Amino acid sequence: MQSRQDFMTFAATVLTLYPEMFPGPLRHSLAGRALEERRWSIEAVQIRDFATDKHRSVDDTPAGGGAGMVLKVDVLAAAIDHARLIQPDCPVLAMTPRGKPLSQARVRELAAGPGVSVLCGRFEGFDERIFEGRDVEEVCIGDIVLSGGEPAAIMLLDACIRLLPGVMGAASSGAEESFEDGLLEYPHFTRPVEWEGRTIPEVLRSGDHAKIAAWRKQQAEDDTRSRRPDLWERHSGARDQSASGARQKRDRDQGQ
Ligand code: SAH
Repeated sequence: MQSRQDFMTFAATVLTLYPEMFPGPLRHSLAGRALEERRWSIEAVQIRDFATDKHRSVDDTPAGGGAGMVLKVDVLAAAIDHARLIQPDCPVLAMTPRGKPLSQARVRELAAGPGVSVLCGRFEGFDERIFEGRDVEEVCIGDIVLSGGEPAAIMLLDACIRLLPGVMGAASSGAEESFEDGLLEYPHFTRPVEWEGRTIPEVLRSGDHAKIAAWRKQQAEDDTRSRRPDLWERHSGARDQSASGARQKRDRDQGQ
């Protein structure tokens, strides 16, 4: 008898005009091993299969004129309905520069769920009415423009897969990583101790774990402040808020 898995398989459905791009890079390394171990699964669905005319067309010229082609809303709806049928409990995410910036917090939520359906755009993108007619979350992976949603889908899936139980191993829960507490991670070093006259910071060789932890915290804060003022502002805002929240609670508890 086959033994039952002690974990849920995270199921990914990708709606794309290029199903042969999947699993692509996700066949390798951590994600590839996890795929073999059935910690996640992937089905790439050809959007063109939902075209209804005899030319199987998926796109048409933009209303109002202009360059490029637009993905047809009826074809997209049929593809999304298919994804909902095979994965009723999974959110559908459309990759688009007009979407909400993807965050590590959202990735964590997705990775904790049963899976995700990902809609990949091409050409000029989607007929906007799809976002009114179907429950779809618009997601942007950065303030850049790709030629298609497929690399964005691969990024999203990679970020989810590494968080699945057993994928990164016991060595790391990812809890110390960049963005997890609103900060960048501290910098890393490894042997050789000296390279081209540059040495590994003394404190990291001291063996004093408390001092090392304090140094890393300071570095994470300094680097976030200088490299990502946007993150720093949010982090220090949240910190001030929780400090004032704690003060208020203390004052309340003391009947003030
Ligand atoms: N005309 C669109 C860009 C289309 S790029 C615009 O200016 O907003 C073609 C497809 O690539 C998009 O439909 C989307 O699926 C994908 N794509 C491009 N950049 C992306 C990004 N930053 N995040 C997520 N998907 C992106």
